[in-house]
Formats: sequence, C-alpha cells, structure tokens
Amino acid sequence: MSENIFDCAIIGAGPVGLFAAYYAGVRTMSTVVVESLTTSGGQLSTLYPEKYIYDVGGFPKIKAQTLVDQLVEQAAPYHPVYRFGERAEQLQVLPDSNLQLTTTRSTILARSLIIAAGVGAFEPTRLDAEGVDVYEDRGVYYAITDLEPFHDQNVLVIGGGDTALDYALMLLPVARSVTLIHRRDVFRAQEDSLRKLRNSNAQIFTFHELRAIKGDTQQPTEAIIFDNRSGAETTLPVSRIVIGLGFKSKLGPIAQWGLELTGNKIKVDSCMRTNLPGVYACGDIVTYEGKLDLIATGFGEAPIAVNQAKHYLDPKARIFPGHSSNREERHQKELAQT
Ligand SMILES: Cc1cc2nc3c(=O)[nH]c(=O)nc-3n(C[C@H](O)[C@H](O)[C@H](O)COP(=O)(O)OP(=O)(O)OC[C@H]3O[C@@H](n4cnc5c(N)ncnc54)[C@H](O)[C@@H]3O)c2cc1C
Repeated sequence: MSENIFDCAIIGAGPVGLFAAYYAGVRTMSTVVVESLTTSGGQLSTLYPEKYIYDVGGFPKIKAQTLVDQLVEQAAPYHPVYRFGERAEQLQVLPDSNLQLTTTRSTILARSLIIAAGVGAFEPTRLDAEGVDVYEDRGVYYAITDLEPFHDQNVLVIGGGDTALDYALMLLPVARSVTLIHRRDVFRAQEDSLRKLRNSNAQIFTFHELRAIKGDTQQPTEAIIFDNRSGAETTLPVSRIVIGLGFKSKLGPIAQWGLELTGNKIKVDSCMRTNLPGVYACGDIVTYEGKLDLIATGFGEAPIAVNQAKHYLDPKARIFPGHSSNREERHQKELAQT
C-alpha cells in the first residue's frame, strides 16, 4: 500500500507546477502532477505559446512554449508521474494525515500537496458586439495560439491591458497592419509594452470601442468602431480581430476544500503554507501581501513550497537544500546506488 502513496501531489502543470515538480525531484520526493488539460504549460501553452517572454531572469527573450518545453526537460530526470486530462475535484485529509485527492478519473494518495492551479479554469472576458459570435474562431479570436492565421492580414486588437498589448506586439512582425483600440486613454498594460507599441507602426485609437464586425461567408472584412465621447464611427478594413480583454478565473472545485481564500485566491503565509496541514500553494493561485502574478514570482514560490513540504514530511530534513551543483552530485550518487 505504501508504495502507492506519493510524497507530493502537485495540482497544475503550468510553469510553476512544472518547476515545483523539478524541485520535488531534487528533494527526492516521489511526485505526481495532476493536470486537467491534456498537455503541460498552463496559460503559456494555452493562451500564448508563440509569444516571447522577456521578464524571466536569465532569459533575455524566450518563446513561451520553449520555456515550457525546457521546464518539462528540467523535471524529466526525476520522473514525475503526469496525470493529464484529470481535474482535481475533492481533497480529504485522512485520519493518518495522508491526503486523498479525488480527480475526475482516479484517486491519488499523497503525503503532501502543492496547489499550483494558476487561475483555475480560465475563460476569456467576452465582448458583446454585433458579429463577434458569428466569426468566433474564423477571424475573431480571444487568444493567439498560432500566428499563421495572422500572416499578412490587417488585424484589429481590442483592449488596453497586458493581454491586448502582448498580442498586438506579437502580431507586429507577421501582420500586414495592426490597429489597437481601447475604450480609455489610460492603459493598464506594462509601461514598456505601451512604449514599444507607440514606437511601432501600429495605429492606436483611444476612447474607441467596437460596434460591429461585418464580413462575407468566410471571414470578417471590416470592423466598425466608434468614439465613445462623440459617437462618431470609423470603418476599418480588417480580416482578423483579437479580443484581448483578459481572462476571468474560476477556482472551481478547489473553492470547496476548506482552504482560506481571498476572492479567487488561496491565502498562504511566507512559507507558502495554506491553512490545511501538509497543503501548500504557489503561483498565480496564491495571495499574500505584495504578490505579483508573474512567472518569475511563481518560480521563487515553488521551491519555498517544496522545501517546506519536504521538511513537513521529514522534520529532520533541512529546509534549505543547498545549491544545485551539490544537489546534482548527490542525485547522481543516489542514482548510482539504485
Ligand atoms: C496573454 C498573457 C501574457 C502573459 N505574459 C507574461 C509574461 O510575459 N511574463 C510573465 O511573467 N507572465 C506572463 N503572463 C502571466 C503568466 O502566464 C502567469 O503568471 C503564469 O502562467 C502562472 O503560472 P501558474 O503555473 O501559476 O498557473 P497556470 O499557467 O495558470 O497553470 C495552472 C495549471 O493548473 C491547471 N489546473 C487548474 N485547476 C486544476 C484542477 N482543479 N485540476 C487539475 N489541474 C488544474 C490548469 O489547467 C493549468 O494548466 C501572461 C498571461 C497572459 C494571459
């Protein structure tokens, strides 16, 4: 029976869950990663695989999907067990303190749990304007997972936050033209993204919103936008429209597990501990004073959660594991002994 109990179960194979899986391997913990999607990568693979990321330390520029591939490669020597296509549904603390995680397909026993479930089930903020539903996925998109449909096209991007500006910047090298509209003149996006877009040949309309999309049987051919101060309409000849209004998060079943929550986030202390013993959390799903929803922040939190979980399982184990060169040697020795 005991061989079926994992030292650590991780919920979520986004970047933070994957890095936690690597780290749990380093701490010689047997690890299972439960992921409701059929592949790893979380938001990076689902929402922006082709986008370049510039704010992960040590990588001046890395494509989102490449970062995911490298995280999978980094964890691979430690053989985490991946359970793709399984959504974690219920959590029960058993009388012997082990944790029973019930997924949509199986029951998993673990001695500790790390929740790296990101924003849970994410869905885009939808836009209600004429023609949007008609052309969804054939000219109107809420996420860019492939740049190919945008090659040499006139593209309209809607929104003023990071999602919209990231998508607009991604499109610049491939699209024939990029136009961005935003309903205000204040942008929530990173200042640097806005600076880059303003210095590009993209057209920017502030105080403008979408009124309607018109087209033929195949695809959109024009977007009608209006100035929300005067009502004046402008017709843009575009064949692709990207609605980048951000994503709404839904914790789903995790909200029912008795975890202390603030809004849609799990409250953790500086050790990434939740209010349940043996249950830690990291990445976009957590909140604490000063929390930033960034990959780099999650990469800092994952080792804290794992090392605390290790110490919880074995109070004699040091919390600080030493540096990676030492660990690699140790791991090679352990492998040689097995
Ligand atoms: C368009 C866009 C651009 C961005 N650009 C950047 C950037 O340049 N730099 C940066 O630092 N950040 C960026 N971000 C934010 C970044 O993507 C997140 O901070 C990061 O993905 C958080 O990683 P995570 O592993 O915590 O969560 P996620 O990436 O959300 O992964 C969580 C995983 O958990 C799974 N899951 C959820 N609930 C369950 C469940 N019950 N059972 C099983 N699995 C479950 C989900 O399916 C998902 O795969 C961007 C975000 C967007 C939307």
